Amino acid sequence: MAYVYDTTNIFARILRGEIPNRTVLETEHTLAFRDIAPKAPDHVLVIPKGPYVTYDHFCAEASEAEIVDFTRAVAAVVNLIGAEAHGAGKGFRAITNAGENGVQEVPHFHLHILAGRCIGPMIC
Ligand code: 5GP
Repeated sequence: MAYVYDTTNIFARILRGEIPNRTVLETEHTLAFRDIAPKAPDHVLVIPKGPYVTYDHFCAEASEAEIVDFTRAVAAVVNLIGAEAHGAGKGFRAITNAGENGVQEVPHFHLHILAGRCIGPMIC
């Protein structure tokens, strides 16, 4: 499958420093920041710095170093927000929306981490 990355998307602009964000964690290949319209007390978006449209694109074309860095960053974010008042030890939900049927709004792969309250059985 051919993936076409739109360099004007909002997360690309955040990565270029053109738009401010509330960073939770930054590593060599990954950035995690708070969602501008949180759906839970803690709602963090974890994104690779590389130009990947969806999860499957990321898995197909990212290097092992990027994938390991991303995976560990997700765990670090979960620990960070768990250490704050909201979610300590109570768990979280991780979601990625991909493409048209996934109703993906921003075409740069991102994982939503939702925590801080019981989120219910379904998101949509
Ligand atoms: P998607 O539907 O693509 O999975 O979700 C995109 C998410 O990005 C939404 O939850 C939306 O609130 C968030 N978002 C959109 N624009 C911005 C922005 O400029 N800054 C931040 N921090 N989040 C954004």
